[in-house]
Order: sequence, then structure tokens, then C-alpha cells
Amino acid sequence: MTKYIFVTGGVTSSLGKGIISASLAKLLQARGYRVTIQKFDPYINIDPGTLNPYEHGECYVTEDGAETDLDLGHYERFLNVPTSQANNITTGRIYQNVINKEREGAYLGKTVQVVPHITDEIKRNMLILGESGEFDIVITELGGTVGDIESLPYIESVRQLRWELGSANSLVIHLTLVPYLAAAGELKTKPTQHSVKMLLEYGIQPDILVCRTEHHISQDIRRKIAQFCNVNINAVVESIDASTIYDVPLLMLKEQLDRTVLTKLKLPHKSEPDLESWKDFLGRLKNPTNEVHIGVVGKYVELPDAYKSISEAFIHAGAKNECKVNVKYIHSESLTPENAVEKLRGLDGVLVAPGFGSRGIDGKIDAIRYVRENDIPFFGICLGMQCAVVEYGRNVLGLPDAQSTEMNEDAKFPVISMMEEQKKIKNKGGTMRLGSYACDLKKGSKAAAIYGKNRINERHRHRYEFNNQFLDQYEKAGMTASGINPENNLVEIIELKNHPFFLGAQFHPELKSTVDNPHPLFVNFVAASLSHSKKK
Ligand code: GLN
Repeated sequence: MTKYIFVTGGVTSSLGKGIISASLAKLLQARGYRVTIQKFDPYINIDPGTLNPYEHGECYVTEDGAETDLDLGHYERFLNVPTSQANNITTGRIYQNVINKEREGAYLGKTVQVVPHITDEIKRNMLILGESGEFDIVITELGGTVGDIESLPYIESVRQLRWELGSANSLVIHLTLVPYLAAAGELKTKPTQHSVKMLLEYGIQPDILVCRTEHHISQDIRRKIAQFCNVNINAVVESIDASTIYDVPLLMLKEQLDRTVLTKLKLPHKSEPDLESWKDFLGRLKNPTNEVHIGVVGKYVELPDAYKSISEAFIHAGAKNECKVNVKYIHSESLTPENAVEKLRGLDGVLVAPGFGSRGIDGKIDAIRYVRENDIPFFGICLGMQCAVVEYGRNVLGLPDAQSTEMNEDAKFPVISMMEEQKKIKNKGGTMRLGSYACDLKKGSKAAAIYGKNRINERHRHRYEFNNQFLDQYEKAGMTASGINPENNLVEIIELKNHPFFLGAQFHPELKSTVDNPHPLFVNFVAASLSHSKKK
């Protein structure tokens, strides 16, 4: 039977529930268990696809085309196993399902209420992945903080499920904060006690407390927390600030979180976790022999979470190259043809980020012109690739008004235009070209050499595409379409022959980069940037 672990958070947000969940999952996976993680988000949007990145960070896209919370990216990067729509559920989706059922007559004669109808729908979704038979353990992370009004139905669902599943088949891990008061020179346990009290009011006794802290937690403090929160002393787990999120599985191993969990769930401990490749990655990450400086040009740079998967993909690719990647975020709105030289000086490579709308678009184009003309490695992702096409059209093909119709519907040279099937779509939510599609790579191209194969699958999130009416013109002028969708001929990759590294992808390679499988495009882009830095 599948076992269920619920992870709640108290005291404050941003304690790192996603990283703790992913780290525990990694340890259990490394002991030979089949584990997945799902996240329940208490907001009313059906999914985060319509949210501004400033609100909620990056929108992560799964193989099956679900637009999801960025924590799913951590789950995939740690576990190297794809997630799906079932791994991320919002309050909006729960209510939508219940309301649809009400209209179908599923509750005929009944008053539809939060308890039991909403909680039943939450519980059904909490059990779906376990019922597939594919997993031994399902970890469920509850977004938000205990005590939030909007979290209540989730907490009540966990309470009911714990009773239904029994204590050997389920457990609750509560993540809390143990703050350090500098004036008193002490770690304080009261916020943890209060937050556990609040959980108890809702009928949940947590089994394990993971205490986020800036200083080591002494045995005395552990004992105090254990005594006042009714848990075993070995169930008080220290989660100290780490220099990289990739250290957290090892920190949790040291705290024996995995052992405590398995004992409580009455599961055999099996062998000690096999973390050889993980440690190997950490070794290379922490002992780089080289260093590069890469610019990321985007318009959401004030909030690094907006480019989470890109910055993590650089960490994986850096480790692979034994090279420290220093990422410099550059606001696209701050770039002009005049200051591009100064702003991009000293960089060994430039990545132009994905995005939507016209804000900052000219800065992206200026940056691309500069790196193209100066043989600096360039990597464009989605909007970044589209900007490279526009720039080449204007400055090489001599099409002065080359533009994407996203920026100007009446562009004289619409070198990027809306996909045919997108034209009839009015609704904004979940209607882009989303998820994994196949792409054939041109023989002899840089892309084919990098991937080392002819057919790849990558994830997408866009409405606009390269306009194939211009393809001949571009290819004659030296920009090759080296990746093509085999079904509808959409251009998925463009590259330049006479440049050390100039490649744009319509898809999002960053979404598939994991610790075990750093993405080849990022690995090669970092390698090209490294060669550039050595030439300088
Ligand atoms: N705005 C562009 C499009 O919809 C690019 C999207 C993206 O960068 N994800 O095609």
C-alpha cells in the first residue's frame, strides 16, 4: 500500500517546504523507494499560468503541458522523474471540479458545502497519484502557512485522511522557524510551540518537526521543543541555512529524517541511500577549476525566482564543466544601442530570457546585435530566440521593420507571427502551445552535435512562432533552422554557422535540466562561454 507524507508550514512563508520535500524524496528514492511529490496551492487561480512572474515566480511547465508552481521544478531537478498536472492542484481547480459536478447533478438534492464536498474533492486529489500504483510513497506539500484562512480546507482534509489511512500509512511533517534573537543571544522556540498549537486546534498532531534555523539547535532546545510539542526528540529535525539547496538532502541525511520517516511508516530501511552521483555533483559544484560570467537579459530580473529554472540549469551545467557560472542579471529596459557595450562588457556569454509583451524588447534586440557582431556566445530561449530572429531580419536581411506580431500586429515584415491554431483562441488560461513536442534536428548542425541524436522532445509555452514565409531568406543569409517539428514544420531551433555559439530555442530547455541530467544546450553554452573567456 502507498504511504502518504503531508508537509505543512508554520510561522512564516518561504521556509523552504519545497526543498525539504524534495530532499526527503531524494533520500527515500536513493534507498530504493518510488517517490513522487505533489503540491496543493491555496489560491483561486486554476493554475499559475495567468500570474505575473512578480506575483509567484516562474511558471513551470510539465511534460503533459500543465502550467504549475515552481516547486515542481525542484521536485524534477532533485528526483529526475517527470511530474504532471496531477502533481499541482489549486483551490481554483478543486472548486471548478466541484461546481462542474454540481451542474452535472452529481450531488442532486444536497447542499454543496466546504465540508464534505470540497474536502472530499481535495482528498480525492491527494490520493490520485498513490492509486496509480506507480509510487510507494507520495509526499504532499501544502502551500501557505497553517492559520491562513484559505489553507483550512486542506488542513481539515489532512486530518480526515490521517484518520482514514491510519498512523502507519501516513504522517505529518511540520516545517517551522526557530528564530535567533541577537539581543538575547538565544534561539527561540515559542513561535514553533504556537504554530504546533494551532495545528492541534485543527486536530492534527504533527509527527515530525523540521526546524528552520540560522544556528545549530542544541540538545536542550530539541528536548524543549519535543516536550512542548508532543513529539519524540529524534523527530525534532534541524534545518540549518545551507550554502546551496543541493546540500539539503545531505543535511537531512545527517539528521536521519529519512530513517525517522521510514520507522514511523513501518517501512524497511533497506540499504543506506545511494548518493554517489549526488555527492559527485556537489564535489564538482563546490570545487570549480574555472569561472565564467554570463549575462541573463530579461525584464523580471528584480525577482530572481522569475528565472528559477534557468539559474538552476546554469548550476547543473557549471558543475558538469567544473566551472563556476556567475550570472549577472541585466534589465532589458536598461539596455540601449549606446550602452550595450558598457553593460555587456566582460561577459563571456549572454542568454536572452523568455517573456511576454513588448516591454524591454528593444534592449533584448540591442544585446543580441552586440553579441552576434562580437562573436560572444548567445543563447536565446523562447522570446529570446524570437528576438534573435527579429534582430537578424533588421540588421542582416535588411528588413527595417522586421518584428513579431506580438509587438506590432501590422508589422510590414512579420518574421515572428501567431501560430495558426492560436488565432481563434480567446481565453487566456491554459491555451498556449504547452508541454512536450518532438523536434527533428538537421544533420550536421550544431544542435545535432550537441544533443548527439536526431530526434528530441522539449517543452513549450508560447503562442508565436517563426514565420516560415521568411525561412528561405534567412537560410540564404546564414541563419539555419536546425530544429523542426516533424508534424507541422514549426521552427524550433535557429543557429548561425559563422559564430562560435549562437543558438535560439523556441522551447524551454531549462525545464528539463536536472542534477543527474544537466541539459546539453546549457552544458555546451557554458563550455562555449568558457572558451570565449580563455580567448580574451
Ligand atoms: N511571448 C512569446 C510567445 O508567446 C514567447 C513566450 C515565451 O518566451 N515563453 O510566443
